[in-house]
Amino acid sequence: MTGLAVEARDRTATRPMLEVDLLAVARNTRLLADRAGELMAVVKADGFGHGALDVARTALAHGATRLGVTSLEEAWPLRDAGLVAPVLSWLNPVDADFATAVARRIDLAVPSTRHLAAIAAVPGRARVHLHVDAGMARDGAEPASWGALCRAARRAELRGEVEVVGVMGHLGCADDPTDSCNALARTRFAWALETARATGLRPRHRHLAATAATLTDPRTHHTMSRVGAGLVGIDPSRTTVLHPAMTLTAPLVSVRRVRAGTPVGYGHAHRTATATHLGLVPLGYADGLPRRASHRAEVQVRGVRRPVVGLLSMDQLVVDLGVSGVEAGETVTVFGPGGAGEPTVAEWAAWGGTIEHDVVTGIGARVARRTRAVPHLRSLA
Ligand SMILES: *Cc1c(COP(=O)(O)O)cnc(C)c1O
Repeated sequence: MTGLAVEARDRTATRPMLEVDLLAVARNTRLLADRAGELMAVVKADGFGHGALDVARTALAHGATRLGVTSLEEAWPLRDAGLVAPVLSWLNPVDADFATAVARRIDLAVPSTRHLAAIAAVPGRARVHLHVDAGMARDGAEPASWGALCRAARRAELRGEVEVVGVMGHLGCADDPTDSCNALARTRFAWALETARATGLRPRHRHLAATAATLTDPRTHHTMSRVGAGLVGIDPSRTTVLHPAMTLTAPLVSVRRVRAGTPVGYGHAHRTATATHLGLVPLGYADGLPRRASHRAEVQVRGVRRPVVGLLSMDQLVVDLGVSGVEAGETVTVFGPGGAGEPTVAEWAAWGGTIEHDVVTGIGARVARRTRAVPHLRSLA
């Protein structure tokens, strides 16, 4: 477990701080690796907002064998940092820099014959994963073009231009394992594999499942799972206890005493019901807190939950502290894993009418970040 020394990006305790707990990532990785065939750690969107390199290193040290990202721009920093694990990039325009990708041994997903032609044309032998649309009309080749893509890929393989190492699909409804859309997608993926085989391709890696299906449906597992959300403690299927890895705190900038009936914030959207104390927290929607969570959200101060009142502003929010005696400078927990009664990312997502992924990937750049390293433990169970 080298390379996991505490990486304190900012130790100042007097400003908003996002702390990422890599022990949580390590535990989640272990659990998911036990359920999956091979485990690809998906570290797109800066590791779902948790730091792509931190999540990648931790996942590789605890059961993942490879990495996944969307664009090539997300792949370069992994190689720049010296990571040598296989990396798959699956969302690129046809004129992306495939030459550099092949030179830097980035595996490429291929969703069309145009992509295939562009990849086959660059020097070297590209490692490719043919990508089929398993039924969500998003990325991946449509079924009508799949046979032609497989045949073209086989010809390119025989010419030595590419090596087809994988076939991939993605599930559109895996959050709800009972949705009949999943059976259709499994059937389409099986058909895509048969078609590839019939053209002479022998892809070693066959991968359909992301977090939800890895946790709920072994029929989707094939040889590998591509897991992102689960690594950072988000289970879209809500079937499994994972460990959320983010804690967001901030100092109270000020505390003021107000009378009953005091209007608070823009539009005077809230009026205090009683005499109380209002605390000011320097975090707002520009920092990624959903504005729609206004009038619903809570934060934790001195171990007690307190309501956020009025509309969230761009840079700040107001908390009703009651008669608690809380003072300026004390720390407010906006969200955390929930073990000490603090609000969770899942609650903020519900208050904001969105999903956890949206909250964790949206925390703004001006929030300082700090990483808690994995302690040297023999067992993380
Ligand atoms: C984001 C993504 C994943 C990871 O999904 P999670 O539900 O976060 O595990 C897997 N595959 C593809 C194609 C993705 O875009």
